[in-house]
This record gives sequence, structure tokens and C-alpha cells, in this order.
Amino acid sequence: LVRLRSRLARSQNALGRGLLAVLSRDRLDEDAWEEIEESLITADVGVESTGQIVAKLRERTRVLGTRSVADVKMLLAEELTEALDPQLDRSLRASPQDGRPAVILVVGVNGAGKTTTCGKIARVLVADGHSVVLGAADTFRAAAADQLATWGSRVGADIVRGPEGGDPAAVAYDAVKQGIDTGVDTVLIDTAGRLQNKIGLMDELGKVKRVVEKHGPVDETLLILDATTGQNGLEQARVFMEVCDVTGVVLTKLDGTAKGGIVIAVQRKLGIPVKLVGLGEGPDDLAPFEPAAFVSALLG
Ligand code: GDP
Repeated sequence: LVRLRSRLARSQNALGRGLLAVLSRDRLDEDAWEEIEESLITADVGVESTGQIVAKLRERTRVLGTRSVADVKMLLAEELTEALDPQLDRSLRASPQDGRPAVILVVGVNGAGKTTTCGKIARVLVADGHSVVLGAADTFRAAAADQLATWGSRVGADIVRGPEGGDPAAVAYDAVKQGIDTGVDTVLIDTAGRLQNKIGLMDELGKVKRVVEKHGPVDETLLILDATTGQNGLEQARVFMEVCDVTGVVLTKLDGTAKGGIVIAVQRKLGIPVKLVGLGEGPDDLAPFEPAAFVSALLG
């Protein structure tokens, strides 16, 4: 929590500061409620979610008859946490099942942080004693396989790659095959995210999935979303959700935005558990997403 707070604090206390300023007034009048709303919308919580959160907060404040800043802050923290569906299962399905490795597909638009996140996840898994194979199925971006290979040697994971411009599905197939043959725990497959054309994406990811499923089911499909793209990211997310069964979201670059409220918008609008957050470019800059700790860091 301390690390999360310091990471977020660098850029992200906009929400905390804005709210704190409002809450430090002696009276919560109409203007104050409007400013609370504005702070949440500015932080990318989304207009609809903000409306719901503030309505509940106002009602609870009224019922309790409280005007104390500490109470309102606590109630707001509760409402924000609740908005993040704290009861959802956010564990990563990375453990082998029935003697075969868990297969994790990593999808998202170019630049969202897929390759980096694959590397960071592999590091966490290896540190936990898992063996990992990385599949470099992003065969379109020239440097992607090299970048993944660098992560692989850094964290101690094998990598399966194909010729540049080769068939992503073939690489994904080979990666899972190697994972099974060598008896590893987890196969992580980095895919290409060319979103120019939905049909093309659907064809490509669909094929990767079908081919991987020849070995058995995909255990987890992680959608990587760049937090700095704000509400636009939500639109991209929907396209991926139409194409594959996304089971978890990783929100990257939270260290680079003052709008941490996007997590709330993502959770509420997509209904898929945010499982991990990216807090920097380094190997340790990945954290499990814990709603209450996150809200506490957000409110400062
Ligand atoms: P991909 O095209 O989706 O595979 O994206 P990459 O993994 O290549 O990442 C794109 C850029 O974002 C790289 O410069 C990464 O170092 C950077 N990046 C990825 N995750 C994070 C994060 O959580 N925080 C920050 N600040 N940068 C990140």
C-alpha cells in the first residue's frame, strides 16, 4: 500500500486534493456537492458512475445527518470501493490444470503495454516458483519479439518466437506445445493489437485462440488498457470484448496519469475484474489490484 500510494502520489493526487479542498469546508452546500462531482468526473470516473456514487453519498450523508469531513471522506471511500466490486475474484488463473500449463492470452492495442506486462507477470510467476514460457505472437511489430526475449532472459522464462511477419497463430501454437512438452506451469502469449480494422483483428485473434485451443482451453484472456487514454480506452476495450472472452483487465501507466478514477469507469462499464495495475516501466512495477487499498491511495 505504501508503494502504491507513493507511486500514485507522484501524479495522481489530483482527485485527493480536489476532494479534500471541498471536504475541508465547514458546510456541504450545493456548490460543494457539485465540486465533489466535478472532481470525480475530472478524474475520469465517468459521468454516469459519478452520478450514481454522489447520489448514494448524499443519501447516506442525509440519513446519518453527518457533516463531519472525516465521516464524508470515509463514506466516499466506501462508495468508491463499492463501485469497484470488491467481491470479484481478481486472482490470476496461472496455475496448471490437469497436468497441463495454464494458458494466458494477452491482448490490447499497440502501445498499451502488452509486452511489458507479459514480462512483469512472468517475473512475478517465476519469483513465486512457477516455470513460464513466453510466446511472442506479436510478429508484426519488429521489436516486439526482441523486447519479449529481453524480458525472458531477465526474469528466467523461455521464449518461443517465429520469423518476423510470420503467422501469430503458429507462434502461439508452438509456445503452448513447448509449454506442454517441457511441463511448465504457465504459457503467456503476447499478441499483436492492430486495431485499424475490426474484422482483421477478429480474424487474427480468433485464429490464435482457435489454434491454441487445439491443445486445450485458454485459461485467462487479459486485456491490457492504457490508463492515460481515459474514456477512449473504454471504446477500444469493447472491440476486444466482442472478439475474445476477456477474463481480466490490466490497467497500465497509472503512474502517468492524474486520472486514477478511470479504474472505476473501467470496472463499472466493462464489468470485468481489473486484476492488475501497471505503475511504471520497471520489472517490479506491477501490483495486484485491491479496491480498498487503491481507493485509500487515491484519496491520499
Ligand atoms: P505493447 O505494444 O502493447 O506491447 O506495449 P509495450 O509493452 O511495448 O509498452 C509500450 C510503452 O509503454 C513502453 O515504453 C513501456 O515501457 C511503457 N509502459 C508499459 N507499462 C507501463 C506502465 O505501467 N507505466 C509506464 N509509465 N509505462 C509503461
